[in-house]
Amino acid sequence: MNYSSTFIPTLREVPADAVIASHRLMFRSGMLRKLANGLFAYLPLGLRSFRKVEQIVREEMNAIGALEIKPTVVLPGEIWKESGRWDSMGAGMLRVKNRLDNDFVVSPTAEEAFTAIVRDELASYRQLPLAMYQINTKYRDEIRPRYGVMRGREFVMKDAYSWHCDETSLDETYQAMGRAYRRIFKRCGLTVIPVKADSGAMGGSGSEEFMVESDIGDNTLILCKNCGYAANVEKAGCAPDNTTEASPANTPPLEKIDTPNIKTIDELCAFLTMSPQTFIKTLIYRAINVESDNAAAVPEAFFAVAIRGDLDVNEVKLAALIKAAEVSLAADADVTRLTNAPVGFAGPVGLDSLPLIVDHTVTAMHDAVTGALAKDLHYRHVAYGRDFAKQGSDGWLVGDIRTVKAGDRCIACNGELYTKMGNELGHIFKLGYKYTRSMNVSYLDENGKSQVPTMGCYGIGVDRTLASVIEEHHDEAGIVWPASIAPYHVIIVPIKYDGAVKAASDRLAAEFAAAGIEILLDDRNERPGVKFNDADLLGIPWRVVVGDKGLAQPNPQVEVKHRREKENRMLELDKAAGELTSQLKAELAELNR
Ligand code: ATP
Ligand code: MG
Repeated sequence: MNYSSTFIPTLREVPADAVIASHRLMFRSGMLRKLANGLFAYLPLGLRSFRKVEQIVREEMNAIGALEIKPTVVLPGEIWKESGRWDSMGAGMLRVKNRLDNDFVVSPTAEEAFTAIVRDELASYRQLPLAMYQINTKYRDEIRPRYGVMRGREFVMKDAYSWHCDETSLDETYQAMGRAYRRIFKRCGLTVIPVKADSGAMGGSGSEEFMVESDIGDNTLILCKNCGYAANVEKAGCAPDNTTEASPANTPPLEKIDTPNIKTIDELCAFLTMSPQTFIKTLIYRAINVESDNAAAVPEAFFAVAIRGDLDVNEVKLAALIKAAEVSLAADADVTRLTNAPVGFAGPVGLDSLPLIVDHTVTAMHDAVTGALAKDLHYRHVAYGRDFAKQGSDGWLVGDIRTVKAGDRCIACNGELYTKMGNELGHIFKLGYKYTRSMNVSYLDENGKSQVPTMGCYGIGVDRTLASVIEEHHDEAGIVWPASIAPYHVIIVPIKYDGAVKAASDRLAAEFAAAGIEILLDDRNERPGVKFNDADLLGIPWRVVVGDKGLAQPNPQVEVKHRREKENRMLELDKAAGELTSQLKAELAELNR
């Protein structure tokens, strides 16, 4: 492709809202333009790389036997009503009506669509397992689109779904997807951290997210220095700091004390000269859609939660423990009504009106301070097991519900945990029966008995993956593409596109093309400095400079340079295409290994 025949509107200026490298560079290199907040157009150069990421994803999905299909982006509202997500998806889902006043959804994801397709065709266990995917447009009305295509409103996701007769089969596909994801990211030149993730309350039994380390990432990753344990903080567990349960034998009797005008834990600690570790913090939570073993889900329930005073409750872990769809702190009026005390004086002692969830840490507390369910009153010398009941009593539950922090101990090996910020590129998830049950999917097993299949889902953001490659591979001058997704493999820069230089450049371009190498030939009438800067900005792996001086040598020479390197070297014109082709093939083979 000749530079002058394509459309690469490079920019010197950086758009004001572009605060991260990939956003800046995608605009500056002419890959991308903005249509509206969160809506972007890929221009020819950007689309080339975008298609390469899509193709890598496609090849790896095909390699594990997943089948590509193409449903529509506009989906009938009907199927979202069946699954229950018409109500639960909230304002992030774009809903539209057609001229007949029928409801439609612009696909934010496609569990319902794929499940509806399979439901109509599935008859026998012989058709299972089945995995299908699309690489297709999604729309999410994100509250704050930002960082360019990292978080857009419209984006492309590869979403795959699978159906199985049993857990073992689901696990096989889930593991194969995990391996395919590792290969996809390796082929894109990305360093990803797979982490354990929350699988929600709705019957999911396994979930892994593929993260890239990123200062602007909105996920906190908990990592072990010792054993490789890695989890999203939403899911991360930690070893208890206490190994023994409280032994209240030597604890003085429970005592009620006046704490006038004390409102915060800090004030209380100062007043009683104690540390927050001595305090049992008690919070009242409202949970919605709490699952129960033998009845329909309870739409709303309240719980008291006790945790050591220096720690925070992890609401995702709490929701998982009590099998709720969602939990949030109760409103002040609910707290007052349920505890019979103003906000700030809740405590587990004598709190009969609510089920109590106790974090592990509290089970080691045998001389603690806590609220006394009355204004300006606290208890001291509180002992778990003596002053309030133990696990197993009615409505009581002990579990790990703290937010894990750097310095906590690893749940797998007791090593020290540290944190990093991460950006999610992909997610694999064992869904279980959530959609197959609500949407009435069934098949006949070997005995002719009707059964409901179990299900998995697996997503990768194509745009976000592409932007993340630029985040990982750039320098001050521009992008430094890995060969696998570079828009072109080689840029040929004639010093002046004229005479012998033009003839040599054209000849090189033809030789590369014959070898299957993608060429951009900078035929513009620009100064060499301008062309070199653009070549660096565009990030094409190899640059070949053709000039009169080199061609005038007894063996005509051209100058070649890899984008990653500072130094260039001279190659014989006759050998340049052959040599760079084998270097490129080696680079590609290394990425694809
Ligand atoms: P996030 O927490 O970042 O919003 P998510 O948990 O909503 O992501 P999924 O529903 O699991 O994401 O979607 C699968 C993949 O789609 C994500 O891993 C990500 O790569 C991509 N993705 C999700 N939302 C966006 C977006 N607004 N812009 C670009 N890519 C996105
Ligand atoms: Mg999201």
